[in-house]
Amino acid sequence: MKKKVLAMVLGVAMVMATLTGCGTDKAATAEPVVVTAEPDVAAEDSSAAEEGEAPAEDVAGDVSADVQAIIDRGVLRVGVKNAVIGFGFQDELTGEYSGMEISLAEKIAESLGVDVEFTTVTAATRTELLDSGDIDCVLATFTITDERKQSWDFSTPYYTDYVTVLVQKDSGITGLADLKDKKVGVSSGSTSARSLVTAMVENGVLSGDGFDKETFDPSTWTDGISFAQYDDYPTISTALSAGEVDAFCVDKSILAVYHTDDRTYIDDKFAPQEYGVATTKGSGFSTYVDGLVTGWLSDGTIDGLIAENGIE
Ligand code: GLU
Repeated sequence: MKKKVLAMVLGVAMVMATLTGCGTDKAATAEPVVVTAEPDVAAEDSSAAEEGEAPAEDVAGDVSADVQAIIDRGVLRVGVKNAVIGFGFQDELTGEYSGMEISLAEKIAESLGVDVEFTTVTAATRTELLDSGDIDCVLATFTITDERKQSWDFSTPYYTDYVTVLVQKDSGITGLADLKDKKVGVSSGSTSARSLVTAMVENGVLSGDGFDKETFDPSTWTDGISFAQYDDYPTISTALSAGEVDAFCVDKSILAVYHTDDRTYIDDKFAPQEYGVATTKGSGFSTYVDGLVTGWLSDGTIDGLIAENGIE
């Protein structure tokens, strides 16, 4: 299949203006930007014939209207992270994205025979952009939960991470028990605060009185731990340095970029986080994507991407 190279779109100028000269933290605070992936393979690509990469009509039997709309558009629009090394990371100078979620998105686009366009998302913006139709799918360390499954479709999980907590070494915090009565920075729209309270209850650090997973709200919880919610991870990292929060809690893959020499993880990791490709609920594209992901899980493609990207 001939892989089309789309001209760099308007987002690039924005990326350069926003990111040049800025640290990693700044990169992750950038407003969602759009760039077109630059395929790093030769224009002629025979891999589409491989297992799990059949053209749309072969995977779904017949092409659904949602899949056909993407094919007709010629571009798959994907929401990705820009500061999660190994998953979705954007080079500040070139604007190029890399990581296993980027490769998976490129492979989905390849399978459809279309180009791919990336938009940087955060935990707070990824569902808004999917709901508004600005993007077709999300590959952004997006944990599958029963609650979320009521609003969006998720593919079979392609990776499982865990939640942990990053602290300043000089804080003396080494485990869940030390987090009692501390203030923890979490991202809005994430599973992190609920996962942490659940782990503290399960480990007997908190009584669990009044804790209901269904109705839990980090902004109002003050029983033995409290939370400050932020729109993005760089801001939590800055808040940790400034002492505004005592700890930074999220998936280990996300924390890695903020793990500087003066910081350490606590000993505990908890709450398995299964990442799936999120798509619009009930769309034919959901079925299509799940067919690809399950194929790539069984033929070793996903294991290969995990290894290639240095993910544990
Ligand atoms: N993976 C977690 C979630 O989906 C952490 C947030 C994030 O992905 O940024 O809630």
